[in-house]
Amino acid sequence: MDILDLVIIGGGPIGLACGIEAKKANLNYIILEKGCLVNSLFNYPQHMTFFSTSEKLEIGEIPFVSINPKPKRLEALEYYRRIQQSFGLKVNLFEEVTDVTKEEEIFIVQSKKNKYHSKHVILATGFYDKPNLMNIPGEHLPKVKHYYNDPHYYANQNIVVIGSSNSSVDAALETYRKGAHVTMVIRKEHISPRVKYWVKPDIENRIAEGSITAYFNSCLSAIENDKVHILTPNGPLTLPNDFVLALTGYQPNFDFLRQLKINLSEDDLLIPEHDKSSMETNIPNLYLAGVVCGGMNTHLWFIENSRIHAKQIITHILTKEKG
Ligand SMILES: Cc1cc2nc3c(=O)[nH]c(=O)nc-3n(C[C@H](O)[C@H](O)[C@H](O)COP(=O)(O)OP(=O)(O)OC[C@H]3O[C@@H](n4cnc5c(N)ncnc54)[C@H](O)[C@@H]3O)c2cc1C
Repeated sequence: MDILDLVIIGGGPIGLACGIEAKKANLNYIILEKGCLVNSLFNYPQHMTFFSTSEKLEIGEIPFVSINPKPKRLEALEYYRRIQQSFGLKVNLFEEVTDVTKEEEIFIVQSKKNKYHSKHVILATGFYDKPNLMNIPGEHLPKVKHYYNDPHYYANQNIVVIGSSNSSVDAALETYRKGAHVTMVIRKEHISPRVKYWVKPDIENRIAEGSITAYFNSCLSAIENDKVHILTPNGPLTLPNDFVLALTGYQPNFDFLRQLKINLSEDDLLIPEHDKSSMETNIPNLYLAGVVCGGMNTHLWFIENSRIHAKQIITHILTKEKG
């Protein structure tokens, strides 16, 4: 039986960063990714601009050159693909991990294609696969999208954008500029203060001038094929509607974390238990890396501040092996 030193679950930027450090340390590792390389980034809106400058998204100390200070999604795809290729990182794509169990000191990592035995496992599975649902009637209709891709699709359509995060604001502005009739439904009384500082005035001015309608302190109560029902401070409202962009955020796969017996905090944040310096979970030799660490607090970690997890974990593994 072949026993690996390390299985890394997730081929996002942070899974790749872990792969680089594992390779530098001569560990026998494999990265298992359920989709394409940097699958989450691939599924981001097509024309998205990162809020980080490119050097903050670098991994393995390899410069990320971009045309403008803040790179676009396409530039990030080029960068991370070149990283994987030039380091020769071992990544199995389109191979989803379905279970991880431990027998004596060895992990058995079960994927849809294969079974691996490993001394250590890193979970770098991100949070982009599970949208936060509104749990309202009609949410299952095909016209309700939790992922936004390209504005052209919505030209001349009546669309409702839920929320006022960066994703919602980008979608509202882009679709408005391609001729959609945009209504924003926002739970809070203002646009999120986290919206990129160079975009915030744009959305506020479009709302102030009436180009985009916004209902603050409001929420959707039901969706039908050709209309939506909104609860506003001035009473209920029904609007004709073709599409709903429910960009209500995402959450880690908590079922998977529970299945792996990782403890979650008992508050609403469901933060998976881990040591802040080694990133080791309550299961010895099972580590967390990247944005999955934040639980429901998906604003806590991003590439910028979680790429260091890779070095923390590999240093811990090497120190334990020596000791
Ligand atoms: C629209 C948007 C814009 C963002 N902009 C920025 C920014 O400007 N700067 C910044 O620092 N951060 C930004 N973030 C946050 C951060 O970029 C992402 O969350 C980033 O992708 C995190 O990297 P990660 O490797 O931890 O997770 P991910 O990139 O999500 O990678 C996790 C990977 O694990 C895979 N996976 C999941 N489950 C399994 C399984 N069971 N088996 C195998 N593979 C699995 C997924 O397919 C995915 O590829 C942004 C996030 C979003 C949503």
